[in-house]
Amino acid sequence: MALVETYKELIQEIMDYAEENKIPIMQQEGIIYLTNYIENNNIHSVLEIGTAIGFSAIMMALTKDDIHITSIEKDEERYMEALKNVKKLGLEDKITLLYKDALEVSLNNTYDCIFIDAAKSKNTEFFEKFSPKLNEHGTIITDNMKFHGYVDKDESEIKNRNLRGLVRKVKEYREFLKNNKKFETDFLDDIGDGIAVSRKREEK
Ligand code: SAH
Ligand code: MG
Repeated sequence: MALVETYKELIQEIMDYAEENKIPIMQQEGIIYLTNYIENNNIHSVLEIGTAIGFSAIMMALTKDDIHITSIEKDEERYMEALKNVKKLGLEDKITLLYKDALEVSLNNTYDCIFIDAAKSKNTEFFEKFSPKLNEHGTIITDNMKFHGYVDKDESEIKNRNLRGLVRKVKEYREFLKNNKKFETDFLDDIGDGIAVSRKREEK
């Protein structure tokens, strides 16, 4: 984590920008878990769905020398801001940013880790689309599994119809992971906004 020290002020600027502009970057606890996981699990390539302004991509890129992050963002303004931030930290060689809708992108590479942090209603689609792009012994990590605590609430408590629909989607994704025959998932509900860590089951 020595690199993070070096870039402390620039990282703080990115976090301040996120707060001022209401950009939902990963929570402190979550980012610590994610970067530790990458440091300690022999991960050298990451595919991120949902760049926003590049905060999590940058934090992942700073974990070690031999790592590459490919990150997809569909919002032009955020993508441009992410480009600027990656340049500011001189991380162009370690981070590739794609300005695309993740559901429309086609990728040739495979990855050691896939980090899903985009539209919560589409998590199952992202998982199904990108899990074939995972290397053997790879991990898929999903953020916002608690959806700001809403998944623990009774449906009748959620008055807003759109919100209720989203919460239902997050719950369906949790069920999808629980019942997945190819992946075994740990639900780390106490970390940040809840993180799911899905590892490929050993083939028998
Ligand atoms: N990972 C970032 C935060 C991402 S916020 C961090 O922690 O720093 C979620 C982002 O996903 C938003 O910027 C949103 O525009 C983007 N997004 C949502 N749906 C998407 C899609 N289908 N394809 C690409 N990006 C998407
Ligand atoms: Mg998130």
